[in-house]
Amino acid sequence: MIGDRIKQARQAAGLSLRALAEQAGISAMAISKYENNKATPSSRVLLALARALGVRVEYFFRQAQVQLEEVEYRKHSKLPKRLLAQIEGDVKEQVERFLELEEYLPNRPMQTFEVPEGLPGRVDEFADIEVVARKLRDAWELGANPIPELTDTLEERGILVFQSEALHGDRFDGLAAHVNGVPIVVVGASWPGDRQRFTLAHELGHLILKDRLGPALKEHEETAANRFAGAFLVPESEVHKELGGPRKRLEPHELCVLKNAYGLSMGGWLHRARDLDLLPQTNYVSMVRFFRKRGWHKKEPCDDYPRERPQVFMQLVYHALAEDLIGESKAAELLRMPLAEFHAQRNMERADEAVNQ
Ligand SMILES: [Zn+2]
Repeated sequence: MIGDRIKQARQAAGLSLRALAEQAGISAMAISKYENNKATPSSRVLLALARALGVRVEYFFRQAQVQLEEVEYRKHSKLPKRLLAQIEGDVKEQVERFLELEEYLPNRPMQTFEVPEGLPGRVDEFADIEVVARKLRDAWELGANPIPELTDTLEERGILVFQSEALHGDRFDGLAAHVNGVPIVVVGASWPGDRQRFTLAHELGHLILKDRLGPALKEHEETAANRFAGAFLVPESEVHKELGGPRKRLEPHELCVLKNAYGLSMGGWLHRARDLDLLPQTNYVSMVRFFRKRGWHKKEPCDDYPRERPQVFMQLVYHALAEDLIGESKAAELLRMPLAEFHAQRNMERADEAVNQ
């Protein structure tokens, strides 16, 4: 129903009825009636709403009704209801565009996510998680090297990754859910890359470890998922190689170099060193204290690791366009770009190709 669509777009934009009324020049009462399907908006009204909400009019008529299932937030903080609605609305809107694009493509482009066989069936100690992470890397043929784009790595294996501007600040870590059985993970669009990557790896850890944790670890699922994240981003063998065996302390500069190489934060490396008994607990604690004193636990002193740049969706849109499965206007709609801007982007890439030939 069109009313539900208006409401979802309003929530995704983080607007109250009154705020939308002001921006669209329509009374809040009227909008409320539209949202409750008690009145039908004219096309002029729809246009005004679409403008104010930053969507195209087509959005209101889209059929796909997406439900987020098994929604989990990393930090179970008490968030204002409106912020939650905004995040979920934003994610739903992105999922819908993905599902719509899939309909235009003759071969379903997404793999079905499956946990590979051959992973340890039960995990009784945190150290066992190292084996799970390494075997998963083996099964996915990732070797032991740093993973350049974790988003692409996950999407190629059937986990959908979305970024949302609505996830910001420290209050909130990440969101994992299922849509039609497909696992999705949402990270903040403006987070530093190392934070995005750790969250993605953490949520992957939940998916992989879910039915494997023995009774001793069951109530420490968060710690287990964190351990997995570290082990997946930097395998044990590489930590040993990079740190060169047991250490008394680690130099901040050294940690910066490692962060840039692997996309794991300096703090993450400290954790790794301690978890693998390469840094004694007391030395770890004093280094963490040293970090805190300088505020580095909030903002690390070296450059942020570059953000993840999801490519799959854009790539599929261009694929569909090239094969005449969709037109330019639909492509622009799917990418949420104004047509003129999309047209310019498309032509520029063609100009590049022409130069290369
Ligand atoms: Zn978690």
